[in-house]
Amino acid sequence: MADSVTVVGAGPAGSFSAYLLAKRGLDVQVFEEHATIGEPVACTGVITGDILSRRLQLPKELIVNRIAKARIIAPGMELIEIKLKNDIIIDRAGFDRHIAAMAREAGARFFVNHRFEGFEHNNQRIVAAVKDKEKNEIKKIETTYLIGADGPISTVAKAAGLFGSREFYTGIQATIRFANDNAIDFYPSEDGIAWVVPENERIARVGIAARREASSYFRRFITAVAGEGYEKRIIGWQAGPIPLYSPRLKSATKDGKILLAGDAAAMVKATTLGGINQSLMAAEAAAESITKDYGYEMLWKKRMGRDLWLSLLMRKAMERFSNKDYDKLVGVFRKKKNRQLLEEYDRDEPTRFALKLLLGEPRLLMLARKVLF
Ligand SMILES: Cc1cc2nc3c(=O)[nH]c(=O)nc-3n(C[C@H](O)[C@H](O)[C@H](O)COP(=O)(O)OP(=O)(O)OC[C@H]3O[C@@H](n4cnc5c(N)ncnc54)[C@H](O)[C@@H]3O)c2cc1C
Repeated sequence: MADSVTVVGAGPAGSFSAYLLAKRGLDVQVFEEHATIGEPVACTGVITGDILSRRLQLPKELIVNRIAKARIIAPGMELIEIKLKNDIIIDRAGFDRHIAAMAREAGARFFVNHRFEGFEHNNQRIVAAVKDKEKNEIKKIETTYLIGADGPISTVAKAAGLFGSREFYTGIQATIRFANDNAIDFYPSEDGIAWVVPENERIARVGIAARREASSYFRRFITAVAGEGYEKRIIGWQAGPIPLYSPRLKSATKDGKILLAGDAAAMVKATTLGGINQSLMAAEAAAESITKDYGYEMLWKKRMGRDLWLSLLMRKAMERFSNKDYDKLVGVFRKKKNRQLLEEYDRDEPTRFALKLLLGEPRLLMLARKVLF
């Protein structure tokens, strides 16, 4: 019997894997538990364009905004401004549907309203149990490979014994009518990270991500930036768990037949908690691993392992920062030479600038000691 691939989840990791594998001639089917691909949205949709544009051509209508400037605002309200080269805000639901359409065109079959529930083995084959939610019946799907691209609470990871022990942030965001100057504002603090990301000069995505007490932090933050009565100006909500990367997690079974990609494997950059680009890189590694029989973990770690690990170290240090430390950190970037490093390099690739920054700036070394002690 020819090799077949079953993908669970039609987010960027799942649909991009399906696209790459179908393009290489494999028999691919994708199961998505929701009725509409891309919905509900749990994302701000900020992407640095370089990694994305090397992989995908986005239709213009999916780019909601292009941003040329960000501010990082310390708890004491000192701020720095950074020029952005290639940051875009996407229509996240449209983005997911676009990649799914590419995969369909390449020959992958999609089944919405189908929830993966578990699997068993039959000789060398995997037999996945998928529930057709409309008909309320379980289908048995025989497959050679199973890709778990089913997001942070991955059922595939749990069923394959790969879930391990994971840590999460909770992300809460509202899209709100809010006059702004079309710059992204980031607010790092003891409470977590908060942001204002404009769709245009009248509408912004305002949110927070926190380890604990996310709802009260969100209410405090949105009241502070948008004012009392903000509720009446809310257009939509987006929320969800965000996994913290862990180098200890396994992303594939020993036989290499079950792979986890994207949030399902906690491939999220812990500094900014972004994972869209990472899910695309994971999909590439999954497709290469399946078609060329290379080790999956080695392939994705080569692309982004060091960056994910370094981002995690930075996040762990920041979790021990007091608000005064954040003030000092922002102070460090008031120096033009330090700010230029942030402007020059892609946030997804901190290994390219972190060492330069640390060695050139003794105050950062003092703050970084929090990782060590
Ligand atoms: C509030 C918030 C803001 C964020 N902002 C950004 C940002 O600005 N930039 C960025 O890069 N990242 C951001 N992220 C992270 C980003 O959304 C994820 O990293 C990205 O969606 C990961 O893609 P994925 O394909 O791995 O998983 P997902 O996008 O989560 O897709 C998983 C899919 O699997 C489906 N599924 C789940 N379980 C099953 C099942 N049992 N059976 C069938 N289907 C199933 C789901 O319905 C979903 O469609 C944000 C996250 C949150 C919560």
